[in-house]
Parts: sequence; C-alpha cells; structure tokens
Amino acid sequence: MSPINLKRSVKVHDEAHDAAAVPAIPATADSPSLTDLCDMQFDNSFVHALPGDPETHNIPRAVRNACYTRVDPTPVRAPRLLAWADPVGELLGVSRPDSPTGPAVEVLGGNRVLPGMQPYAARYGGHQFGHWAGQLGDGRAITLGEILGPDGARRELQLKGAGKTPYSRTADGRAVLRSSVREFLCSEAMHALGVPTTRALSLVATGEMVVRDMFYDGNPRPETGAIVCRVAPSFVRFGNFEILAAYNELDSLRRLADYVIREHFPGLGTPSPSTYARWFEEICRRTGRLVAHWMRVGFVHGVMNTDNMSILGLTIDYGPYGWLEGFDFQWTPNTTDAQGRRYCFGNQPEIAHWNLTRLASALAPLIEDHAALEYGLTVFGETFQNAWRGMLADKLGLVSLGQDGDDTLVSGLFDLLQQVETDMTLFFRGLMDIPVDAEGGNPAEAMDDAGLAAPLRRAFYADETPAQQSRLAAWLRRYIARVRLDREATSLPEFADVRLERMRRANPKYVLRNYLAQQAIEALGQGDASVIARLMEVLQHPYDEQPEHEALADRRPEWARNKAGCSALSCSS
Ligand code: AMP
Ligand code: MG
Repeated sequence: MSPINLKRSVKVHDEAHDAAAVPAIPATADSPSLTDLCDMQFDNSFVHALPGDPETHNIPRAVRNACYTRVDPTPVRAPRLLAWADPVGELLGVSRPDSPTGPAVEVLGGNRVLPGMQPYAARYGGHQFGHWAGQLGDGRAITLGEILGPDGARRELQLKGAGKTPYSRTADGRAVLRSSVREFLCSEAMHALGVPTTRALSLVATGEMVVRDMFYDGNPRPETGAIVCRVAPSFVRFGNFEILAAYNELDSLRRLADYVIREHFPGLGTPSPSTYARWFEEICRRTGRLVAHWMRVGFVHGVMNTDNMSILGLTIDYGPYGWLEGFDFQWTPNTTDAQGRRYCFGNQPEIAHWNLTRLASALAPLIEDHAALEYGLTVFGETFQNAWRGMLADKLGLVSLGQDGDDTLVSGLFDLLQQVETDMTLFFRGLMDIPVDAEGGNPAEAMDDAGLAAPLRRAFYADETPAQQSRLAAWLRRYIARVRLDREATSLPEFADVRLERMRRANPKYVLRNYLAQQAIEALGQGDASVIARLMEVLQHPYDEQPEHEALADRRPEWARNKAGCSALSCSS
C-alpha cells in the first residue's frame, strides 16, 4: 500500500479578496408556486418541545439542564448571495431571491430574524478523536426555525457561520468562504449521488474578513467570510444525547429521545423502553447504510467525531472531507488525522460502530435491556456488510457476491487497486467498458493484456510495470469469467443492458474531486461564479455521461497532488 503523500504544501495561495466583489450566480426563472423566504411561516418544534437554557446572555459558558440556548445571529457588514440551490428551494417552497442583496438575503446572512423564528444554538457534547471532549454545541451554527414544505415535511434552516453563541468557546462563530463553498457543493453533490445528507440552500458572503490559520502553522491571515444556510429535518447528533447522559440530566435525555422519535421516527410508535431499543436499532441500521454509501462513492468524512454523527443517519458537518482519488484504504484528507489515520477511508465502518457504542452508553439510562443495545450494534454490522456487499456487486455488475471465489475476486481487486495508484471513480466506471461478451468472436480471450485493460487506462496515475499489467489482466479474465457465470445463470436476453444499467447507477462518473472544489473556491474568490455554477449543474447528474463536461471526470491533475485544499485539508474553517 502506498498512502498518498499528505505532506503539507508550504505554498500559500491568495484567495483573500473582498467578498463584495464576488458576483452572484445568475438567477433562473422561478416556479410560481414558490414563496419569498420573508413571507414563509416558521415553526419551532425543537424550542417548544424541549428544555431551553434559562440564561440568555451570549457569552461562552457551560450550559446545564438544557437542550439549547436561544440566541440570534450576529449581523454582518454586507450580506450578498453567492449561490442558491434551486432543488432545495423547491423542497422548501422558497423562491430564489431575485437580487444578490435584499430582505431574504439579509435573513440568510443573519441580519434579520423574521417574525415566527425563534433562533437557537443546540447544546451537545462529543467524543473527538476517541476522547470525551465535554460540552461542544453549536458554536457557530444557529437554527432559525422550521419550515413545513409543500411535501408536508418539516425541515430546519440553520445558518453556519452566523456568529458567536454560548458554545463558541474561544472561537469567533464565523466560517470562511472556502469551507462554506465546500459544504454547499458537497451537500448537494452527495444528495444527487443518493447518499443521505443534510442539504444546502444558500451561500452568502458576509462582506467581512475572518482570520484563520489555514495550515495550523502559526501564520493566520484574513479570509473572506461566508454563511451557508443548511437544511435538514433535524441536526440532532449523537452528541446531543451524550452531553445529557454525561451530566445525568435524565429527564432532558428522555424528552430529547421522545421528541426525536415522535418527529422523525413516527413509525416506531409511542416512546417506551422497547421503542427506545427499536429506535437505537434503526439508528444503527441507517448509520450502516450511510457508511456503505460513503464507501461506494469513495467519500471520506474526515472528522467522524460523535458530535458530527447525525441521529437521522445523514452525512453532516462537511469539514476536511475528501474524495478518494487514488484508491487507498489508509487515505485521510484531514491533516490533523494524518498521524493516527483514525478517520481514514477504510476505518469508517469501524469508527461508525465505535461511535454507536458511545451513543448506546448515552441511551443506556433509557433502555433497561442492555442486550437490546448490543443487538442494535450487531444490526449495524449486518446492515453495513449487506449493504456494502450489495453495492460492491452493483459496482462490479454482478448479481450478488455469494459464490465460491467471490471473496477472493474482491480482495484481489482491492490489492490491485492499491498496487498502482488507481483512481477509484474512473476504474469502476471503466469496468463497464470491459468486454465480457463473445460477440463477433471472443474478444476477451483474443485480446492481449494491454488491450483488455485499455478501458481502465484513464484511471492510472502512474505507468504500470509489465508484472502489474499482467496481474490486472489476470484479474480481468477471472472477472469476465465470473460475469459470464451470471449471464448463464440468469439467461435473460437483456442481461447485458440490465447489468450495465446497474453498474451505471452504482458508479458515478462525476464526483466532487477535491481539486474541483478548490478551483470553484479560487474562481469565486476572483469574482467568477461560473465554475461553482457549472459544478453544481454537472454534479446534479453524477451518473449521466454529460460528454460536454468530460473534463470534469478526469483524474486529478499532477499539479493538484500536494496543493493545499486539493489533497490535504486542515480542520481550520
Ligand atoms: P467541528 O470540528 O466543525 O465539528 O466543530 C467542533 C466544535 O467546534 C463545535 O462545537 C463547533 O461549533 C465548534 N466550532 C468550530 N469552529 C468554530 C468557530 N469558528 N466558532 C465557534 N465555534 C466553532
Ligand atoms: Mg461539528
């Protein structure tokens, strides 16, 4: 195995431009059924159902006996809309603001609280890098309120980077443009990939600069500030329960569990000890499916602390995440994790399991039958294994992975992918073009090693040695034989088409490669919104060929290999 070189680049690129110079993405025509944000009705079920902090002064402090603190966003100098996600607007029934400034943008920048909103910061704790960190909480995220969408579903609007809260500790409550662009783009890209995730409605520049030590190397500098309005049915994390259990606030613990079950797991019925047990089991199931999806698309979250684990099984808190380019189970995008690699690609299932054990401990006071918690944890393992195997079968275009020799086929593939630096996305997409049929002779048998592997050539970052080439060809021949077994067993006339369609839907052509996000950030910093707009468009259809955007499917260019933001990221955001 050869982990990607994570050595930090010392080159500091200049992206600190005045936010006011950044233009908004041109608006498209709105559907008439959408309503201006300022005319929407808001609800505040979280605030009404749960105990709030009796104190309201907004200074960093330890909060006790509460699930949240009421706090308004701190206004910014010049909020300006940079990007808007139409699909999320439609989900909420909210129209795209027709100008980069104006009342709706003031709301999205935190300068205006609408009637009916009761903004709050949630109280939570968490295990960070394996250690209990005590109180964390929404230190820079503020939930404005909830909207009932045209589909009848309730969703929270939360501003990330909206200013200090009692949970800000020593930090400033703000977010920079670079991390906000990354969250905005990735939320929507993940949704289009079919991966459960929080969403993002808007990206607003604040007109203020934020000082960050981007490389954690003692060189802080000002960067453009921004705020993302993110959207989810709930932002409750494992850590919301952990903090209540840690301080033995058991009444609040029960109330929070009951609220989450009633609002978000209504199918489980009236809360009771057995409902709590089934609820935990369902959280385990969802988390298992979530992580299987991450593995399928090559997503590495980067900071799987328990405060970054959604109780709904969504991807949440996009920080120093990354997309696998060279396939490597050891790869982590997070420089803070470069030593221990706790959160590297291959560890994600195990870490999710560990995080669920932390949640199980927090919920133990509600569930007398601890065997039920143990059972939930086994459900996680089974769900992940089944989902991952099913997804791998889809990725390979096999009916299932249950036959003798399948495990060796798969482990042989993983070894191959790590012997030469191989782009995960391109490799699997390229497998669709490996000839398995005997049309017009028997191409697979007739081909030499290089010819057989030709559709995969684009996936390699380095030239293969002859030995590696023949190992790949040998694997491909075994693979082709295995596909033919499926074909014989199914005897479907449309076998080839069905198989390719399954592969197409499991193997994205376009993912948010780290360098693509970085290019969008740099362009936006120069006042060019076209790059982010194009990416948003292309990433909404990640499984489609979109030949006019072929360049965005290319493997990472060499200049991006060690460039900051393109391969290695710190938590500084
Ligand atoms: P994260 O690493 O983003 O999951 O954040 C961990 C904790 O630090 C959470 O409680 C965040 O709210 C808090 N935090 C991160 N950045 C800031 C910031 N700039 N200002 C205030 N709190 C922050
Ligand atoms: Mg977080």
